[in-house]
Amino acid sequence: MTLQNHQYYVQGVLEQNRRVLAKTITLIESSLPVHQELARTIVECLLPYTGRVVRLGITGVPGGGKSTFIESLGLSLLQKGHRVAVLAVDPSSTRSGGSVMADKTRMERLSVEERAFIRPSPSRGTMGGVARKTRETMLVCEAAGFDVIIVETVGVGQSEITVASMVDFFLVLMLAGAGDELQGMKKGILELADAVAINKADGDNVAKAKRARKEYETALHLLNPSSPTWTPPVLTCSALKMIGIEEIWDTVLEHREKFTATGELELKRKKQAVDWMLTLVEEGLKEQFYKKPEIKRLLKKITRKVEKGSTTPTAAACELLFSLDRPKPR
Ligand code: GDP
Repeated sequence: MTLQNHQYYVQGVLEQNRRVLAKTITLIESSLPVHQELARTIVECLLPYTGRVVRLGITGVPGGGKSTFIESLGLSLLQKGHRVAVLAVDPSSTRSGGSVMADKTRMERLSVEERAFIRPSPSRGTMGGVARKTRETMLVCEAAGFDVIIVETVGVGQSEITVASMVDFFLVLMLAGAGDELQGMKKGILELADAVAINKADGDNVAKAKRARKEYETALHLLNPSSPTWTPPVLTCSALKMIGIEEIWDTVLEHREKFTATGELELKRKKQAVDWMLTLVEEGLKEQFYKKPEIKRLLKKITRKVEKGSTTPTAAACELLFSLDRPKPR
């Protein structure tokens, strides 16, 4: 890719030029230092044009109906005059480069719309790396005039915590009677939820969905509320039949209104930005540390000692951590 100066990208994004937007995201996702530096400058310049948006995170089990839901919601938002960007954080891509999310043809109707923009998960990288790219992509999309940003992830591992930490509102899609094996996972996720929606509440499933709604309401009542202003509601919907989608969007707007009035939205975003910075510092430190040749060497040696039991993990860790502070022998 031939590089232009940063103004080219900044101007193109602000002019809502989709090609320049896509190129900018490619720079953000690139691992080349020269691309990363350029991307940093671009995002910095675009920052004043970001923030006046709704950032909505959505999670749920694979097959739970996330893409169907996002397509239904997205199409309804377009009708209301919004411009919608959909980004994904795929935890499987961080391990294998393979993907549980991006492989299928998703959101066919939404993807052809001029006022919608769909970007699959950055492939490869650590969870933190993927999160950084998605966060910056989110900001760039905001500067490009998208006023609703939907960040999607599957409900496994770290990824939902990551997504919850970059959005204003976190929606958890559930299914009725999905089996007890999911209960453990659900509990952790429920603590992050600003609302729960039981999807596929259509046909024979309606009664089951209503029962599940009651169960989740009880479960949510047992959790400590994270805000005095907001008790996460449980709703039912059918993404396929487009039932209940409007109510969910109304809930997002109600939350926004309340959180704006109390100042909680601003506080939440400030905290997210500071947490993000600290996460990047931690990742950077770790990366720099393990890259050092003397650490690589010492690590090998000391790992063998720990394996043999000739030193304790604690002593070994101290030796590694403090080896850099010692003056080098001449
Ligand atoms: P994802 O993996 O969470 O993105 O799930 P998909 O959106 O791909 O949906 C998985 C399957 O569930 C597809 O066959 C959808 O047609 C179906 N599905 C999604 N939402 C609904 C719904 O509200 N009702 C019914 N009956 N099926 C749905």
